[in-house]
Amino acid sequence: MTILRLVLGDQLSDALSALTDLDPRRDIVLMMEVEAESTYVRHHKQKIVLVLSAMRHFAEALRARRVTVDYIKLDAPGNTGNFHAEIQRAVARHRPDRIIATEPSEWRVQALVEGAGSASGTPLELRPDDRFFASRARFAAWARGRRGWRMEHFYRDMRREHGLLMQNGEPAGGEWNYDQANRKRLPARTAPPARRRFPPDAITREVMSLVEQRFPDHVGGLEAFGWPVTRADALHALDDFLANGLPNFGDYQDAMKAGEPFLFHSLLSPALNLGLLCPREVCLAAEEAWRSGAAPLNAVEGFVRQILGWREYVRGVYWALMPDYAERNALHATRTLPAFYWTGDTRMHCLREAICGTQRHAYSHHIQRLMVTGNFALLAGIAPREIERWYLAVYADAFEWVEMPNTLGMAVFADGGQMASKPYAASGAYIDRMSDFCASCAYDMKQKTGPRACPFNYLYWAFLIRQKDRLSGNPRMAMPYRTLAGWPQERQASILAEAEAFLDQLDTTYP
Ligand SMILES: Cc1cc2nc3c(=O)[nH]c(=O)nc-3n(C[C@H](O)[C@H](O)[C@H](O)COP(=O)(O)OP(=O)(O)OC[C@H]3O[C@@H](n4cnc5c(N)ncnc54)[C@H](O)[C@@H]3O)c2cc1C
Ligand code: SF4
Repeated sequence: MTILRLVLGDQLSDALSALTDLDPRRDIVLMMEVEAESTYVRHHKQKIVLVLSAMRHFAEALRARRVTVDYIKLDAPGNTGNFHAEIQRAVARHRPDRIIATEPSEWRVQALVEGAGSASGTPLELRPDDRFFASRARFAAWARGRRGWRMEHFYRDMRREHGLLMQNGEPAGGEWNYDQANRKRLPARTAPPARRRFPPDAITREVMSLVEQRFPDHVGGLEAFGWPVTRADALHALDDFLANGLPNFGDYQDAMKAGEPFLFHSLLSPALNLGLLCPREVCLAAEEAWRSGAAPLNAVEGFVRQILGWREYVRGVYWALMPDYAERNALHATRTLPAFYWTGDTRMHCLREAICGTQRHAYSHHIQRLMVTGNFALLAGIAPREIERWYLAVYADAFEWVEMPNTLGMAVFADGGQMASKPYAASGAYIDRMSDFCASCAYDMKQKTGPRACPFNYLYWAFLIRQKDRLSGNPRMAMPYRTLAGWPQERQASILAEAEAFLDQLDTTYP
């Protein structure tokens, strides 16, 4: 009996459920590089290199264990370029009795795999992806009957359930959340650590040439590529973070600094999302760093919350609400994405920094995504699908299951409060407080209106005025709406006009 086992590009884990009972004498592992996955949005070149190189390394490791791998390279003769046809072709080649796969992480890909399975006439067994702390069913059970799905409640349940950072049934240190301690601005003289990056080996270099040749017009450059593409390198990246980043991760989690895209962040999301690292081992390693005194509790709790809390929670939201979730637009935002999101060509220093860093590294950290590029899209009223596709295209770690809820739910409030209790809308003062960008910006953060005024200032108030009917009843928005209520109509009209004029002159031609 021959079994065909599918391994997709973000399923590069030895312990993958589809591989647990692999018999190398009998089974064939199918891995496919398909053009459609690289082009349905114009992914950053580094992201394509990362996924394909990590797949090729994973296949080599399987072969070293004498596993038969049917590996279809992007430029292989006859490669049809899509999952559906490639699975059919593989079934015709191997005539398996069964296909076994692990649940794809994205709704779209799951539909493709299921469709290909049934079209091939071969029984398809889809196994749960047990690399996560919470299965899809576990999240659904948690969410059932709850009105608001607040991450904090889910996170506490996960802490209890998995015994992470717990002492005698209570949260370590007596608090569930050390967020208050984790909002420091980076002192001018504090230098972030040099980060371990991984120079491309021969396999990665071959993929780089292929990507440059096949996708020359995709966003970003490859010069700074340094992502781990094997499990061994991902473990080195984890060690590097535990030693050099984690101790200060909490304090400066929300800080931003010009020329420093990484600060104390882990840079582990690509390795986690591909399956090179398992979330559980990462959280346990961080917990051990606290227990051994190598990192303080506010840092470790803050880090564990991102993975055990946010990462699991957004996956749960995604699978609970797809496919309708993708269409949410609670604030009726319709504006086209400005061209500077693709080029970085803007006089706003904060946006230029986030976008140019993204082009160079296929990375920016959470606060840049949420409070700079996300905040601008929210305040400007960019259509949710436009900004969502942008996030999906430009980051090395972008996979729809994690990217979409973060964009629609957290950044632009398109789900109307399913995830966040209020929009993450902020004026220039927030960016000034958390960064050194404003000091060297063409705009003046202190000016509220006029040609030199920071656009975030009038865009913020214009957003509140435009969304008054939808947001003024939200108790968490009461304070700014109280301020607004004291402003005469003429002042509000003039702010609206200034914001519209600014937005209307932005170039929206896709470069
Ligand atoms: C608009 C927007 C889009 C995003 N798109 C993605 C995406 O496509 N892929 C992605 O992995 N993350 C996404 N995030 C979440 C977060 O910004 C990234 O996970 C993080 O910046 C990755 O860098 P890091 O590994 O250095 O993270 P760290 O700051 O070191 O955090 C540690 C880990 O926690 C996890 N994590 C942190 N925050 C979140 C979060 N909000 N949701 C889920 N996991 C989280 C990641 O796995 C990350 O590696 C997005 C956030 C926003 C606001
Ligand atoms: S002044 Fe405004 S636009 Fe310039 S960096 Fe500060 S927040 Fe950004």
